[in-house]
Amino acid sequence: MGKSIEQIESEALKALEAVSDLENVELLSTKYLGRKGEVTSFLRSLSKLPQEKRAEAGKKANQIKKTLEAAFNEAIEKFEAATSQTGDEIDVSLPGRPVPRGTLHPVTRITNQICEIFTRLGFDIAEGPEVETDYYNFEALNFPKEHPARDMQDTFFVSDNIVLRTHTSPLQVRVMEKQSPPVRIVAPGKVFRCDSDITHTPMFHQVEGLMVDEGVSFGDLKGILTTFIHQIFDDEISLRFRPSFFPFTEPSAEVDILCVICRGKGCRVCSKTGWLEILGSGMVHPAVFENVNYDTPKYTGFAFGMGVERIAMLKYGIDDLRIFFNNDVRFLRQF
Ligand SMILES: [Zn+2]
Repeated sequence: MGKSIEQIESEALKALEAVSDLENVELLSTKYLGRKGEVTSFLRSLSKLPQEKRAEAGKKANQIKKTLEAAFNEAIEKFEAATSQTGDEIDVSLPGRPVPRGTLHPVTRITNQICEIFTRLGFDIAEGPEVETDYYNFEALNFPKEHPARDMQDTFFVSDNIVLRTHTSPLQVRVMEKQSPPVRIVAPGKVFRCDSDITHTPMFHQVEGLMVDEGVSFGDLKGILTTFIHQIFDDEISLRFRPSFFPFTEPSAEVDILCVICRGKGCRVCSKTGWLEILGSGMVHPAVFENVNYDTPKYTGFAFGMGVERIAMLKYGIDDLRIFFNNDVRFLRQF
């Protein structure tokens, strides 16, 4: 016979002490306790012993086998526990993984700034549907059917009578139908026109404003808009009012500001004119008041509308309108 069972035991225990991972414990376990392992072979060899010695030797060998099995199991458990602690188990003392936070879209930011300025001037915020009837989008605003002014705006028609609103001006009518003067509102929101190039997107944002009361004059319009422009850009910016045409205001004026980039010297942004068109405005047309049963000429008022993207582009120096709607986080994170 080769090694005694005691020799096998002490060798196995020594080897087990030396291993440092689960894989080697399992290899050792096979070497000693596997089907062809040293302990198993030893037990099998006992059958060759004479009957009277067999019982005692077998008892001892089985005891040692149990001792070794226990030692190996303990080692396996120890290594398994160590592995799972770094893997599957949750360590509640670890700091949490941060969730990336978004930022406000520049259009939202500018819309909020515009609304804040007008709120300080005593205006309320009004909102209305983006899908409008022809009546609110055109007719009540003095765009009669077949009127050429309708061609000024390329409209998305949902059906003959339903459109995606081409401006936020329908809010004027919706608010005046429900409320008697005085009215002071600004209406921010999305508008839609069939148009797409570097300076036009089929969806963009406007803020509409309306003030109606007894004795509201063109002077009030100029005062409010000048205050607004000075607050959204800066106090030094000059304005000019140019005669214009809108069906729902009379007289109407286009408002330009001195170019914020070149300060009037002429540059690419202002097409060398030194001025930037920033909003449309005018005194509310009596026909609009008649549509909402306001007593005219007792009440007068003014309205204005501006493109939010246009103001954002000028404030942040952005030269391509389409970039607002590409959802590129490298652009959006800069605000
Ligand atoms: Zn310029």
